[in-house]
Amino acid sequence: MNSSVAVPDLPAWDSPLPEALEHGWIDGETRRFGRDSIVSVNPATGEDIGRFDEGGAMAIDAAVIAARSALPGEWARIGAAGRSGLLLAWAARIADEIDQLAWLETIEVGRPVTDARTLIAQAPLLIGHYASMIPALEERADGAVRRPRGVVGAITPWNFPTANVLIRIAPILAAGNTLVLKPSELSPRSAVLLAKLAGEAGFPPGVFNVVLGAGHTAGAALAAHPGVDMIAFTGSTPTGQAIIQASASASLKPVMLECGGKSPQLVLPDMIGERAIWPGVFHAAFWNTGQWCAARSRLLVPRGGLEAAIDGLRAAADWPVGDPRDPATRLGPLASRKQYDTVQRFREIAHRTAEVVPLSAVPGDLPPEGFYAGPELVLGAAQDGALVQQEIFGPLLTVQEYDDLDDAIAMADDGPYGLGATVWGADREAAERIAAGLRVGSIDVIATPTARPGLALGIPFEPRKQSGFGVEGGLAGLAALTAPQAITHAA
Ligand code: NAD
Repeated sequence: MNSSVAVPDLPAWDSPLPEALEHGWIDGETRRFGRDSIVSVNPATGEDIGRFDEGGAMAIDAAVIAARSALPGEWARIGAAGRSGLLLAWAARIADEIDQLAWLETIEVGRPVTDARTLIAQAPLLIGHYASMIPALEERADGAVRRPRGVVGAITPWNFPTANVLIRIAPILAAGNTLVLKPSELSPRSAVLLAKLAGEAGFPPGVFNVVLGAGHTAGAALAAHPGVDMIAFTGSTPTGQAIIQASASASLKPVMLECGGKSPQLVLPDMIGERAIWPGVFHAAFWNTGQWCAARSRLLVPRGGLEAAIDGLRAAADWPVGDPRDPATRLGPLASRKQYDTVQRFREIAHRTAEVVPLSAVPGDLPPEGFYAGPELVLGAAQDGALVQQEIFGPLLTVQEYDDLDDAIAMADDGPYGLGATVWGADREAAERIAAGLRVGSIDVIATPTARPGLALGIPFEPRKQSGFGVEGGLAGLAALTAPQAITHAA
């Protein structure tokens, strides 16, 4: 292993995972559920690494009761300032445990350890952002009082285990709700650790509960539960559709859904000759081995720009594919056998119907049972075919040429998803036209070749089309987790 970058000593692959993180966390304590358990597999080796509880409907019931009981008690009395202080104390505890959280991501879903640490280190910024907005939420700008929605059920995916959970739950807690979290069955342990850290930071018991289990058991029970006031979901579009059905059939609760994507990146004619853009284009497509909801997995270049794109991306493809414990690794394995099989299926379609250009290969010394896949370009894919239309969630980037701006907008907007887009170009007017023409939640406009998009925490956005709905981020995102109550006084 290359150990030139300083990271702490990591445990061996076969060191046991903490037993305390294999069970749910309900009412401020560990709760064991279950005759059944689920096996975790290390994606870097394909080996079983432990088991955790399959909580199911019984655990969801217990967690909802705890969350409901916690609503009117100490949590309500703490008030806005108290909530803010608790969130900041929790953020500080998370900052103390970055190494442990990163290790869990590395072993459970193959996140490269350096990348995992870098992202988790942003947690205090994210939580602090919501904590700082609590006073604004309390202001009665429009005369209505904002009430917490009550018990909110959060269901999350695995691709950035800690960040996915925090992005979902930090505003839920900041808005004064209580929480039942059902994390992905691929990455349960970091979620339990986050709940324990909240308890250590002083959150009253019952405010933050975690139930472990599969989607069709624990997840479905949470979505349908009549004692849950709202569902906040991050995950795939088909699961989002199932959640709407469940929440409508057994009760009638609001849902917010952050679902899949197939986001385009468009290079304008004024940028196609700039070699400095390609590392950024590569990063946007292949970060986390392409397992990123907003991965810019469709590249659109002006006609005649294909060679420049292939040359530029070949030169930019210097991210080592490797063991995720190695601090130098930038591309780890895919997170699961299922994800690996999905990517292989799309690769087969690409080999059959288009041209595949590998950018870097999987080194031969990695365990063959690991779920590794190197980054590849796909040329000549049909606009209406699966490679351009469907989310792959892996390291495949389609590259297409457009004729003019109208053509670029039409191609970029054509598809079922509407999460994000990137425009590489200095022509502000063209960028504005593209932004107006795309039904997406957020757009990065990169006007100088070496610039890169920053974190835009304070700006609200809402996914479009089958990428979901519900405002996220900023004060509007926080307010969406409350319900306005109109009180009129007649005397
Ligand atoms: P998934 O939909 O399979 O699972 C997400 C969560 O839903 C998991 O906790 C799972 O157990 C649960 N679940 C599954 N079936 C359920 C059911 N019937 N009822 C209730 N819950 C159920 O998605 P995934 O494979 O974990 O994650 C990848 C997907 O997530 C991709 O589509 C990706 O684009 C999306 N994602 C979106 C965002 C975003 O912000 N838009 C962020 C990250 C990931």
